[in-house]
Amino acid sequence: MFEYSHRHDSERRRLLQLGAYALGGSIFAGSAAWAKTLAALPQEAKAWNFERTPDAHHDVVVIGGGISGLSAAYSLKNMGRPDVLVLEARDRVGGRTLNAPSAGGGYVELGGQWVGPTQDAVLQLMGHLGIGKFKTYDTGRMVNDTSEALNALELLDYLAAIRRIDNLSKQVPLNDPWNCPNAAQWDAMTVRDWMNQNMTTDAAKDLIDLTVQADFGGPARSVSFLWFLFYVHSGTDFNTMSDDAQRWRIEGGAQMISLRLAQRVQNQVALNANVDAVVWGPHGALIHYGGRRLVSASKVIIAMMPKDIERMHFYPQLPADRQALQSRWNAGGGDKYFAVYPTPFWRQQGLNGQAISDNQFIVMSWDNSPSSGTPGVLGGFGILEGENRPPTLALRRRLVLRSFADWFGPQAWNPISFHEKSWGLDPLTEGCVTPLEPGLLTAFGPSLRAPVGPIHWAGTETSTVWCGYMDGAVRAGVRAAKEVDRLLM
Ligand SMILES: Cc1cc2nc3c(=O)[nH]c(=O)nc-3n(C[C@H](O)[C@H](O)[C@H](O)COP(=O)(O)OP(=O)(O)OC[C@H]3O[C@@H](n4cnc5c(N)ncnc54)[C@H](O)[C@@H]3O)c2cc1C
Repeated sequence: MFEYSHRHDSERRRLLQLGAYALGGSIFAGSAAWAKTLAALPQEAKAWNFERTPDAHHDVVVIGGGISGLSAAYSLKNMGRPDVLVLEARDRVGGRTLNAPSAGGGYVELGGQWVGPTQDAVLQLMGHLGIGKFKTYDTGRMVNDTSEALNALELLDYLAAIRRIDNLSKQVPLNDPWNCPNAAQWDAMTVRDWMNQNMTTDAAKDLIDLTVQADFGGPARSVSFLWFLFYVHSGTDFNTMSDDAQRWRIEGGAQMISLRLAQRVQNQVALNANVDAVVWGPHGALIHYGGRRLVSASKVIIAMMPKDIERMHFYPQLPADRQALQSRWNAGGGDKYFAVYPTPFWRQQGLNGQAISDNQFIVMSWDNSPSSGTPGVLGGFGILEGENRPPTLALRRRLVLRSFADWFGPQAWNPISFHEKSWGLDPLTEGCVTPLEPGLLTAFGPSLRAPVGPIHWAGTETSTVWCGYMDGAVRAGVRAAKEVDRLLM
């Protein structure tokens, strides 16, 4: 997946570039096309003073310092292209992966955290970066706090549906799901519509709904069936996506991947570098960031969720299809809660810390302790997000601890620290994963990866394999790096 050895011609190529620089001063100097682009800027763009000499020029500017952007930068470095600058809006790298220190000398993982079989890109990268994995704790009983278990008929209905979903998903091509023979029909319906037409029992439908809610961040009644099938195929099959994808945890927490990547590309990452505007033309781009900085680049890789790209201004505007894709992209919230205890006390009772519920504030819990087992950490997903979220931290804490105490005993009322993160409320990441609505993929899907002038698109949402996951983020970054590498001189 990665190319780990430098290409032999990298030094020669660098010298050629420096020579070209010395002759031209800037790749933009004297370019009539570029002068035309600048002259055509609307009044509102003048505020950014794009006409001034940029602070620096880079072969590639990567916007977004999550796993995908950093994978792109690291790939380029390994391809012999070290002249890359990563611009990250936050004061940290990692994007949707975030370790927060907890009481008891541990940490909680407020964003992405699990990896699983067939996620070969992220597993290979972790190996390369010296990051280990360990099995998700699952010794002992799980608590089932749902109103009723499936009876034999419902179980058959459920298993038959999964088999059909897996078969249908294989008909959806990963590169261009919008081109599959049934694309129009499947993109016009929701997952719930399909279940109503093809399943007979409500309990089995509700169980699939629970998976859709967990994996897509939205209910089955709002998710396009075509997107659902693409996602299942992208994540291998239904069971691999919904179950095996949580098989392993990452030593040191998932943010470790980005922290290590950032070390490898060291001086090439600028933090607190929010990009607000990009001017692009036939010869490259000017990027305004950090309130007042301006850089030029021959190529740009934008590595974030399409919805997040909406906040940036582009001159000239992006093509209409691309704009529509971004503005109509929706993202599920993803509210995560953690309670930390001196020890994982539930293990002594033969419980594995896992619970599912259809009647509590927390719909799913798990044992999130580090591999040493100390401190003990319980994690949970909350169902009431956005406007429905209980308004105070004290109330949310009480509701979470009540769920944990109901399932694992009264000790759960007394954590040594409590943590929460609502990604839907984060101004820099407008959600967690994507419950794409019907109609969007067939109408605007082709613009997901299509470059626009010098701009190329990365971010997990552009991946054909494990789209939406950390593995997809790595693959998308590497793919975008290869794209721009081929086009640079
Ligand atoms: C709660 C939660 C649980 C998850 N669980 C899992 C899991 O268990 N396993 C799994 O594989 N995946 C999981 N995921 C998904 C996984 O975290 C993502 O797929 C992955 O981290 C995405 O990486 P990315 O680099 O594509 O995007 P991001 O991580 O979103 O990176 C984009 C970066 O761009 C930056 N940025 C935004 N705007 C600007 C701007 N204007 N200028 C400069 N920078 C900007 C952001 O700050 C961010 O750092 C989960 C996600 C969440 C939120």
